[in-house]
Parts: sequence; structure tokens; C-alpha cells
Amino acid sequence: MSLSELSGDASEFPKKGADREQILADIAELRTGDAKWRSGKTFSLIYNTADHDLEKFLEEVTLLFAHENALNPFAFPSHAKMEREVVNFTLSLLHGSDGAGTMTSGGTESIMMAVKTARDHARDALGIAEPQIITATTAHPAFAKAAHYLDIEHIRTPIGADFRADVAAMEQAITDRTALLVGSAINYPYGTIDPIPAIAGLAASKGILCHVDGCLGGWMLPFWERLGEEVDPWDFRVDGVTSISADVHKYGYALKGASTVLYRDPEMVKKQYFLLLDWEGGIYGSPAAAGARPAAPGAVAWATIRYLGEEGYLRLAGRVRDATRRIQAGIAEIDGIEVTGTPAMSVFEFRASDDSVDISAVGDQMHDRGWKVDRQPTGLHLMLSPVHAEVADTFLQDLAEAVKNHGESRGEVASYGGIG
Ligand SMILES: *Cc1c(COP(=O)(O)O)cnc(C)c1O
Repeated sequence: MSLSELSGDASEFPKKGADREQILADIAELRTGDAKWRSGKTFSLIYNTADHDLEKFLEEVTLLFAHENALNPFAFPSHAKMEREVVNFTLSLLHGSDGAGTMTSGGTESIMMAVKTARDHARDALGIAEPQIITATTAHPAFAKAAHYLDIEHIRTPIGADFRADVAAMEQAITDRTALLVGSAINYPYGTIDPIPAIAGLAASKGILCHVDGCLGGWMLPFWERLGEEVDPWDFRVDGVTSISADVHKYGYALKGASTVLYRDPEMVKKQYFLLLDWEGGIYGSPAAAGARPAAPGAVAWATIRYLGEEGYLRLAGRVRDATRRIQAGIAEIDGIEVTGTPAMSVFEFRASDDSVDISAVGDQMHDRGWKVDRQPTGLHLMLSPVHAEVADTFLQDLAEAVKNHGESRGEVASYGGIG
């Protein structure tokens, strides 16, 4: 029986082992419904360099570490060294070379760790038993998730007309239990950089911590700046910034499972570690949330950075900038839609600029043409990769037609991540 004939998911445990050819054929068939990301028609989820040599190379490195376990750095010192170097490389990129940090499985885990560190710092050093954190409403849901998991209060403050955090609103929200202020560089929905110097200065004046979420911007803004673009200050050069999260598996172009969480004060990372000294199984220590963890992502992150170097990242950033400029200029020429606010780099929303355009119906039309643009409550969302420089013109042609003849919306719900 072919898998496509199965109406539902298998539920019975397989009695016998299957032939590997059969399993591979089943996988091929199962994947026919997956997003065709190589075409450049997907926007988030995959950061597509369109560099096949790099892809092949990263697959080779993945195989080298496919079986290893990063749980124990003493068993695989090669891997531990690679992870330390990825952290060092990222610290140096973000002007925090005197700091310290760890790798994690992704932005969500990095944010969770930064929030845990802030919670424990508040309890140990500030005497706050029930700490709270403050973010703008544009901050990534990982902060709400972290607050939920760690059982601390999360206050969300509004953004201003410029789609950046409203610092006055943050200041008003501060109480004697506030442990951490958060800014994003950049945020996901609008791609803007929050006023980090003001947020970090406010945190410093209250003696509390300031985390900058550089998950998305952390591996692009430094190169954007080197390309000569104006980038508002956001990294460790800003006084009062105490920690930063930056995902190597986003614009660092590594494969999924690679992020960093970095602290200005190298002592601070110790608050992140978990240690159990008196376990029946011996001393148990781990730097972040996972126990046993795959080794390939760290090795691949290290190999990607070595392979591309600053030159490679600049070349790719140039392509992303080219795609961004062309697509934003094209959107400006289409009547009835506009880019929302002033995005800082290559991630942005576009929305209807007059009542004749139903942006959700435009999204339906684009989906029918194979473009997996993301939907937000107020518009459609693009996250551009190097591959998009190759498809910018066809994208804009399809978009112009979709806006002209969009018809009725199918009422799709805006969603991100795991729930669609
Ligand atoms: C992607 C993202 C995160 C979370 O990272 P994951 O790797 O998806 O867990 C956090 N913040 C921003 C701004 C992001 O875009």
C-alpha cells in the first residue's frame, strides 16, 4: 500500500523491519507535499543562500557529527572547542569579546536561558523574590514562553508610531520587582530595531539587566553596517546591554539547531548553568535546557563561519540587500500597498494603503501562485534570503497582478510557527 493511500497516520507499531528502499521511497512520497524552498518561493523557515557548494559542504560536516552527543564535552573535546569558538566568533562580531556565552539549540532556548539568568540574578543579587520582565508587544513569543515556563510575570508594553518599543511606556511599567528590560534588534513583525540605547540606559539607571534579542538581526546587522548602511546602535557597544541572543541558524546560514546566548559580564553565564552534585549517577551539569543533544548543529555552525568568513557574509548580505531594495521599491510602485514603517534590514511587513485592497486576499493569490508569504494580522510578511535576489522580478510581477485582481479573501488566520 502506498502512503498516499493511507487516509490517516499509522498507529500500529511495525511488526517487521522494512526494506530500506521502501522506506526511502515512502519518505520521497511523504515529502511531495512539503514547501519547495529551493525555488525561493518560501520566506521564513529557511535561509536560502542558493550556494550549492556550501549546502553540500554542510551536509558533509553533518554526517561527521551525526552520531555524536554534545552532552559531554569531555568525551568530544573537538565539538566543545567548536562551540566555544562559535561563541567567541559571535562575541567578537557583536563587540563583546570580553564577555562569555554558550550555544543553544535555537533562539527560543537562548531567550529562555537569558530570562532564567535574569530571574536568578534578580533573586540572588537584587533580592527580588518574584521577578518580572518587560518587553514591547513586538518581542518574540519566546519571551512569553520563557516567562510561562519559568513562572515569572511578563509585562508587554505598546510600540510607538514608528513600530519600535515605546521607552516611556516601558519606564512607566517598571516596578520594584522588574528584573529585565528587553529590546529587539530586529523584531520579527516589522523588522525595526528598538531604541536600544534608551532601553539599556533605563535598565542601567535602575540597576537591572537589559537583554537584546538579536536572534534575527544579530547575524545580519553587523554586515549591513559594514556594507555602509546606517544601523542604529544595538550591540555590546551600547552601555547597559547585559546580554544578547543571536541565531547562527538564521542569517548565519548554519543548519537548524544553532544559536548563541551571550553575556557582557563573563560571570553572569554561571547563573545559566545547572548543576546537580549529589545525584546517584554522579555529578550532572549542563549549560542550557537540553540534556543529550545533537552535535551536528554546533559543528555545522563552526564550519559555516569558517567557510564564509567575513567576506562571504558580506557577499551574501549584499545579495540580501539587493533583494530588499528591489522588492521594497517594487512594492512602492504598486498602487494600494505599502511597506509598514521603516524596517532596518531585510525583514518587513507590507500592508494595504487604501480600502480597495484586501491584503489577506492578496495573500491568497500569492499562495495560489506558489509564494509562501507569511501572514500577519495587519499585512503580509517577508524575510529575504540571498536566493530572493534571483526571484525578485517574478515575485513583483505576481504581486502586482495579485493586488489588481485579488477577489474575496478566504479568511486565512495569521499565524507563525507551530500552529497553522
Ligand atoms: C526566530 C526568532 C526568535 C526565536 O528563535 P527560534 O530559533 O525560532 O527559536 C527570537 N526572536 C526573533 C526576533 C526571531 O526572529
